[in-house]
Amino acid sequence: MKKIVILTGAGISAESGLGTFRDEGGLWSHHRLEDVATPEGFARDPALVHRFYNARREQAATALPNAAHQALARLQTSWPGEVILITQNVDSLHEAAGAQMVLHMHGNLAGALCGVCDHRWTSPPQMQVGETCPRCSVPAGRPDVVWFGEIPYHMDTIYAHLSKADLFAAIGTSGQVYPAAAFVQQAAFAGAHTVEINLDPSSIVPDFEETRFGPATQTVPVWVKDLLQTI
Ligand code: NAD
Ligand code: ZN
Repeated sequence: MKKIVILTGAGISAESGLGTFRDEGGLWSHHRLEDVATPEGFARDPALVHRFYNARREQAATALPNAAHQALARLQTSWPGEVILITQNVDSLHEAAGAQMVLHMHGNLAGALCGVCDHRWTSPPQMQVGETCPRCSVPAGRPDVVWFGEIPYHMDTIYAHLSKADLFAAIGTSGQVYPAAAFVQQAAFAGAHTVEINLDPSSIVPDFEETRFGPATQTVPVWVKDLLQTI
């Protein structure tokens, strides 16, 4: 049976109340990327970076999965073949909707990472400057999120899945952040049918064979229903 590989971005969580990157008035828009989402920004002002992620963690903790997250979890349990879920999101809304095996390529707000020994542990709700690593005791704790200039997680696994995909869908992602923006090309090269599901056409829309536009809570459940009808 067909192998489905799905990439999700901030747009799938927008209707759960979590701002996307470029939303007007969103948390992100009050900060410069270089200040809050780079290793250099963290070295310069760790307090600012912790404040930013503490606020995002607090917001994510009360957010609920929406109909789009739920539809993808349903697809994973009902589809007779493999459904691989890759997300750029640092929230846990796919898991909260019941999804299995989510590949968080940009990390997760729920995690803490030691900047010295790479040990990972569960983040406290509020991380402080000088958070101590439980393994090496160095005060080098940081959010376990991938910043600009860092290498995303699970890339070997992701490329292996893309090379065997029969169907690839990108949902709620602007196609402006690499390497995720190039996944569609990898999947197409492997012979997969490609679908973009987004509010509006993204900057890489010409790379896709099929498109579905509108809010994710409307488009994703319909797409999943259409797919399940092909079984
Ligand atoms: P992005 O903000 O660059 O793009 C979001 C996309 O979603 C846009 O194309 C927009 O048109 C679309 N969109 C907005 N509302 C939508 C809706 N209701 N339904 C469907 N689509 C909608 O986000 P990105 O491409 O994921 O890249 C941004 C980076 O920011 C990622 O690296 C991610 O780690 C991080 N981020 C994560 C979260 C989160 O975890 N919830 C939120 C913001 C940013
Ligand atoms: Zn350590």
